[in-house]
Amino acid sequence: MKKKCDVLIIGAGGAGLTAALNAKKNGADVIVLTKEYPTRSQTCMAQGGINAALGNISEDSVEEHINNTLKSAHGEADEKAVRFMCGEAINTVEWLDSIGVCFSRTKDAKIAQRTLGGASSPRACYAQDYTGLKILHTLYDKCLEEEIEIEADKYLLDLLKDKSGRVCAAEILDIRSGELIVYEANAVVLASGGYSRVYAKNSTNSTASTGDGIAVAKRAGAELVGMEFVQFHPTALKNSSILISESARGEGGYLLNTKMERFTNELAPRDEVSRAINAQILKGEDIFLDIRHLGEEFIERSLPQERKLAQLYENVDLVHELIPIKPVAHYTMGGIVVDHTSQTTLEGLFACGECANHRVHGANRLGGNSLLEIVVFGKEAGVHAAKFAKNVSSTTPVIRENSVVKKIESYSNQLDFYAKRQLIGDIFYENVGIVRKREELLFARQEIIDIKENIHHFGVSDKSKIYNTNRVEFIEFLNILDVCESIVEGALKREKSCGSHYMIEVA
Ligand SMILES: Cc1cc2nc3c(=O)[nH]c(=O)nc-3n(C[C@H](O)[C@H](O)[C@H](O)COP(=O)(O)OP(=O)(O)OC[C@H]3O[C@@H](n4cnc5c(N)ncnc54)[C@H](O)[C@@H]3O)c2cc1C
Repeated sequence: MKKKCDVLIIGAGGAGLTAALNAKKNGADVIVLTKEYPTRSQTCMAQGGINAALGNISEDSVEEHINNTLKSAHGEADEKAVRFMCGEAINTVEWLDSIGVCFSRTKDAKIAQRTLGGASSPRACYAQDYTGLKILHTLYDKCLEEEIEIEADKYLLDLLKDKSGRVCAAEILDIRSGELIVYEANAVVLASGGYSRVYAKNSTNSTASTGDGIAVAKRAGAELVGMEFVQFHPTALKNSSILISESARGEGGYLLNTKMERFTNELAPRDEVSRAINAQILKGEDIFLDIRHLGEEFIERSLPQERKLAQLYENVDLVHELIPIKPVAHYTMGGIVVDHTSQTTLEGLFACGECANHRVHGANRLGGNSLLEIVVFGKEAGVHAAKFAKNVSSTTPVIRENSVVKKIESYSNQLDFYAKRQLIGDIFYENVGIVRKREELLFARQEIIDIKENIHHFGVSDKSKIYNTNRVEFIEFLNILDVCESIVEGALKREKSCGSHYMIEVA
């Protein structure tokens, strides 16, 4: 089966939907595909806010936003890209406001702003602590209004090229029917999210963040960069890894150890706070977030979701009790190499959002800059993909004989890949985590090599066609292995510490 459009977008998070709106606005016929229901994309989990130097609470400037972003990036960002993103921030928030995102307001009806880590002023615009959800759902409504075709339960397996090597189609598994479909397009945009879920349960991320688009791009020959830069968020609930947003510290929350001592600047960048917590944990301390002093009325008004999450997943009422926390994998700075037009190193292939590396976060992202990035560069990707699609004539993909779906049919399924997936997550958390050592990185790499060599002993037990989630999860597992390989290779190549990549160096 075949389908055709000008611009095919993989992913219906904030980046994909913004790209879709802008590609359509620039005259392209667009289809968006997503492996889950669009409004469940991980963007809906973002809580703290989106950065823009509006200066609504205290004086701020675009220049300060740029300086804070560059400082946190530890020399690994591209200043031009950072200047562009921060320069677009005010217009971006105003645009989101204009299409209906219900930002929280100050008493004089301006957009409210709060301070997140590493920011010199209250700069994050928020909708209580549901910022990502409000942005995603508003973008989705806008796409429906524009009659953009969005298809759920469509899983990207691989990219296809024409004889000249131009990306011109994607091989898709229709999860509902089990059929394979080839979607042909003049331009393909990957907006498939990050890869923090390779850390399995040691991550705040949605189960969908398995780095599929990055693994697919890598197999197609696209370059990746900065894959070793994984951000560990300081405050996830201890037992479930559910995030307690940085806004809790931004609003005045403290970090305490078992002796009830504060031990770090709570609003330092995330890499520093996570390492400070990790050092305490290694000394045998339990770590807590304390926001009791903010009071019930304030918490209900500004942080209602945090209270519900803590109650539901940790059985604590943060109005009256300390919250047990630990750092876990949260955001992945690395991704697909793109230029300033969001074009990857492969002709016809664009990328935006967390799967791409626009070099605006460098070695450590600032809170509030990802929601900004996905909208700013989602727009760029949509505009440039539409332009590209208009200027090339359509071409025919070379169809491969053996799709991954066919290939895995012969795998023996003697070994349980679900157990292995959690084991990799634990191994990576311990050995490719907040603090790294060369011998531990080598150990993690060997584990991946061994699994890859024995991959035919794993497989799927469910052989049915319709809604076979066992098969989809196994293909995600294969992608996780490819992504893990790139993380650990990047980490081994970078011998010196840099931001989130912190090496214990041997003298
Ligand atoms: C708990 C939490 C809180 C956060 N809070 C903030 C915050 O306050 N401020 C901030 O700036 N950032 C925050 N972030 C980070 C931010 O939310 C993400 O970086 C951002 O939303 C990523 O958007 P995206 O569009 O790139 O990807 P996503 O929203 O992850 O969307 C990816 C899309 O790709 C689809 N997809 C993936 N693989 C495939 C495949 N194989 N086939 C088809 N479709 C596929 C998915 O179904 C989904 O639709 C937070 C993150 C988390 C986890």
